[in-house]
Amino acid sequence: MKIHEYQAKDIFVKYGIPINPGYLCHSVDDAIKAYEKIDHGLVVVKAQVLTGGRGKAGGVKLAKDTVGMRNHAANILGMDIKGYTVDRILLAKAEDIEAEYYVSYVIDRNTKSTLLMLSKEGGVDIEEVANATPEKIHKIVIDPTIGVPDFLARQAAFLLFDDIKQVRQAASILQKLYKLFVETDASLAEINPLILTPDEKVIAIDAKMTFDDNALYRQMKINDLFEPTEEERKEQKAKTKGFSYVQLDGDIGCMVNGAGLAMTTMDMIKLYGGNPANFLDIGGSSNPTKVIEAMKLLLSDKDVKVVLINIFGGITRCDDVANGLLAAFKQIDTNIPIVIRLTGTNEVEGRELLKGSKFHLAETMGDATRQAVELAK
Ligand code: GDP
Ligand code: MN
Repeated sequence: MKIHEYQAKDIFVKYGIPINPGYLCHSVDDAIKAYEKIDHGLVVVKAQVLTGGRGKAGGVKLAKDTVGMRNHAANILGMDIKGYTVDRILLAKAEDIEAEYYVSYVIDRNTKSTLLMLSKEGGVDIEEVANATPEKIHKIVIDPTIGVPDFLARQAAFLLFDDIKQVRQAASILQKLYKLFVETDASLAEINPLILTPDEKVIAIDAKMTFDDNALYRQMKINDLFEPTEEERKEQKAKTKGFSYVQLDGDIGCMVNGAGLAMTTMDMIKLYGGNPANFLDIGGSSNPTKVIEAMKLLLSDKDVKVVLINIFGGITRCDDVANGLLAAFKQIDTNIPIVIRLTGTNEVEGRELLKGSKFHLAETMGDATRQAVELAK
């Protein structure tokens, strides 16, 4: 789960990490009022959206007076950044920048540890730095039983700074950021850029945090910040119905029992040159209401041109599934072609029941996906 910069900065403040203070604004009027409270001429107007690269997209602008600030606020509010509409901005005190650095803690699957990443190439897209000049990114594997003790924090800070006064500030920030990372069950805590000001202060002027969804049950305060996208809302709703659903951008809707089979079905569709519209594991049982709910879910995606139903009858018998499908489709009104592949217990009986129906029947997975890909064209 992601949160906004202003929310991440609130958490930073609780942990004593220095930031440039600001005000959240929902309108230009809000911003004008907030500007009066900022005891400083130069401000930065920042789009608050749940995606990075706002600067590049024109969502971060400096202003030195009310007129400039008002113009930027008006331009940025309502702006579209990577599919997110800006409905709020952060108006913050702008800092003078001597140098920009990159700092983050991230869960790393390769080392199965928390990784501290540091770079002198801050402020820019870190993925680009990682691709072009990977040697400019330092990685330190954190032992969870030791954490980030003083010596390690200093060692890390020395990778970015030479002056001891700056190193001390950075080391303290690194320790606080680690504490915050662990205590909030974060999967990413990133400061890009961490800056050095001309008067030698080290400050976080951006803050990005992502949290482990599986830990949200014990992070109620963070869970309260959840703002689901349209897609996430759909996936959540599906979860309450007992489905495991992930929306994708293809046109072949998949209804499958079992996660492994669902993955294989998506692979097969790709193999035959098609594109799956979703991952959907409907779980066991041939309950018609479940099929109806699953079909509603698939058809709510306007891109779906074909539905591929791939069912393995284990404990669930294929003839039961066939009856379930027939009962379900009496209630579903759709012109979308439906390919069904049933295999396993009582598959012959199952297919017999579906003969003469409007469904396209298949025996093998290859045959079923070929038909679905063909029909989608
Ligand atoms: P992002 O593009 O979404 O990562 O947004 P950032 O908050 O990192 O801002 C992008 C860039 O805008 C930074 O790398 C800085 O170069 C610049 N910027 C942001 N805040 C300030 C500020 O307070 N003062 C100055 N001088 N530049 C800033
Ligand atoms: Mn940034």
